Amino acid sequence: TKQYKVVVVGGGPGGLSVSSTLSEQLGHRNVAVIEPSAVHYYQPMWTYVGGGLKSLADSARPMADVMPNKVDWVRAKVTQVQPEQNTVTLSDGTSVGYEYLVVAAGIQINWDKIKGLKEALGKNGVSSNYSADTVEKTWRFIQNVKGGNAIFTFPGTPVKCPGAPVKIVYLAEEAFRDNGVRDKVNVMYNSALPKIFGVDHYGKELQKIADARNITTNFQHELVEVRGDDKKAFFKTPDAGIKEFDYEFLHVAPPQGPPAFIKESGLGDAAGWVDVSKETLRHNKYPNIYALGDSSSAPTSKTAAAITVESAVVKHNLAADLAGKPLSAEQAAKYDGYTSCPLIVGKNKLILAEFSGYTGKPMETFPVDQRTQSRVAQYLNKEIIPEIYWNGLLTGAWTGPARFRNIFAAFKAAQ
Ligand code: FAD
Repeated sequence: TKQYKVVVVGGGPGGLSVSSTLSEQLGHRNVAVIEPSAVHYYQPMWTYVGGGLKSLADSARPMADVMPNKVDWVRAKVTQVQPEQNTVTLSDGTSVGYEYLVVAAGIQINWDKIKGLKEALGKNGVSSNYSADTVEKTWRFIQNVKGGNAIFTFPGTPVKCPGAPVKIVYLAEEAFRDNGVRDKVNVMYNSALPKIFGVDHYGKELQKIADARNITTNFQHELVEVRGDDKKAFFKTPDAGIKEFDYEFLHVAPPQGPPAFIKESGLGDAAGWVDVSKETLRHNKYPNIYALGDSSSAPTSKTAAAITVESAVVKHNLAADLAGKPLSAEQAAKYDGYTSCPLIVGKNKLILAEFSGYTGKPMETFPVDQRTQSRVAQYLNKEIIPEIYWNGLLTGAWTGPARFRNIFAAFKAAQ
């Protein structure tokens, strides 16, 4: 069994942001990242890919290019963690030992939770921005729509980027106008949730825009079945039972949940997420385990933006452990729930939602009301933030916008 000071599960933004800094501090052969994929995707770009504004290739880099130089990349999947032995078992049958473990395995997409979806997906107008295999089809199918129902769904589970299922509605609605078919298309957002967005501060604005653009919103409508050959979708509702809709285009945000190995290894909370303190991100039972990103139990909205701040917290607290001076819960760095959702409402329009997932309170970086639809914010999100992701977050250099938020706030106060 190979032995490492730190083993990181997952080479997404959560795993790489932490392992890049730690491997610089600890040097070669001390940090391993376990990650099966050959490609790393900047998934936030997939909304733009589905909306025809970026290509899938724009969102992809070879994993080998983004893996930190001083990290040992173990190309396998973790099948189980043995937290009492400080080992992990891999899909190739080998195991690896650790002193400290960081779990950042992301959220799992559960296509098979919806009857008929797997069979229907990628054909006859059914697509999803939630997979590299289907995201380009979203734009192709949108272009094919000449009339009828264009339906967009939100599932009855937690999802990564809870704004993503609705962003593509606005981009498609604009595309139907550009294509001259808007008056023949019924644009419908069918969500299992009771409202368009969890944080009312931004949600009220989004709902107003939907109403003004004649987008029908059906809440507490949960997709339960797709019959691809008949182009029919079935939704569970609280009062009308199962409702049937015909569609010409169906965009599915699929059910999602924690990877199974977490629970099977005894690391999960009741729902199966890695059970950590929402402040220190340290495991509630095993002090030498941390988690960040989509697979952690931190009750914020699951985004790469949240990881910018979470990564700083994990690095700070874990560095103290590694130095033999572990911080008490009072001394430790604490995550404030910061998360962000760039709400794309058109090719050149974006509402930059930034808030704490813990309090629901806005945490806006810029000294303007960020509920305003902004062309500048769209440019920032589409062209600048991807660069910050590749060159800042993944390399461990970018730990969120708090510094800028404070500078802008000081400026504003001084005026
Ligand atoms: P991931 O990025 O999912 O990475 C997890 C990694 O772990 C993967 O590489 C996977 O291969 C690996 N892995 C999984 N299981 C195992 C295992 N058993 N063993 C070893 N490795 C394993 N975020 C934003 O901030 N802004 C946005 O605008 C935004 N828009 C989005 C739009 C879409 C359509 C989607 C799909 C996501 C969007 N997100 C957005 C969310 C963002 O992409 C995720 O929150 C982020 O990627 C989570 O990072 P992570 O490291 O926790 O998990």
